[in-house]
Amino acid sequence: MRRNIVAGNWKMNTTVPEGVQLAKEVCEAVSAAQGLKCDVIVGVPFTHLTAVREVIDIEKVGLAAQNCADHVSGAYTGEVSAAMVASTGANYVILGHSERRGYYNETPEMLKTKVDLALENGLKVIFCCGESLEEREAGKVEDVIKAEISESLFHLTAEQWANIVIAYEPIWAIGTGKTATSDQAEEVHAFIRGLVAEKFGDEIAGDTTILYGGSCKPSNAAELFAKPDIDGGLIGGASLKAGDFMGIVTAF
Ligand code: PEP
Repeated sequence: MRRNIVAGNWKMNTTVPEGVQLAKEVCEAVSAAQGLKCDVIVGVPFTHLTAVREVIDIEKVGLAAQNCADHVSGAYTGEVSAAMVASTGANYVILGHSERRGYYNETPEMLKTKVDLALENGLKVIFCCGESLEEREAGKVEDVIKAEISESLFHLTAEQWANIVIAYEPIWAIGTGKTATSDQAEEVHAFIRGLVAEKFGDEIAGDTTILYGGSCKPSNAAELFAKPDIDGGLIGGASLKAGDFMGIVTAF
């Protein structure tokens, strides 16, 4: 069955004590909330994973890393493997964020390897895709999305696919305050679901969670989440304050 998810992506924000405090606040608010209609995840820096895992109830709030290495182990100074992430008790990893693709030159081939390693280590993957403004203006949205998803994910089996969540994040909407309209977002989400249906069939496509990301906030979340193919959000800036984040979590 398709699950609604609201996941925070804290990016490179908060010290460990600040992050622990934020995670505690989110977990307390989620525990106190009645009848939530979505799963809640916090995506924290590597340094925070173990400390945050100790203060959350993982049954109530999932825990995601924001990246993992494209190698199993060894002489890769500064890298963090999928096995290391899993050993902290995290249950998700965000992969393919446009900031990683853009600033750290992550290629579809590298992401394919990261996805495989994450799944082998029992992590669920929140896989990001999305077009730049130039690509949108050039009418290339569908080509970009299709390439990003098929090149890094379409080698998976249907069984593995059950552990994939897609996040559509138009790059021009990330951290800019410019949200895609709910119609613009729905159009791409429906296209993504169609791609998944072509590859894995209607039933699996119907069960796939597709999140929207890009300046989602309490004031626009309800309209976005009301669309039939938008199953929640990947939230950057608005995930850094428990009150704002909960305003999105409760928007369903
Ligand atoms: C993100 O980078 O995943 C994101 C959605 O950021 P923001 O909500 O700040 O636009």
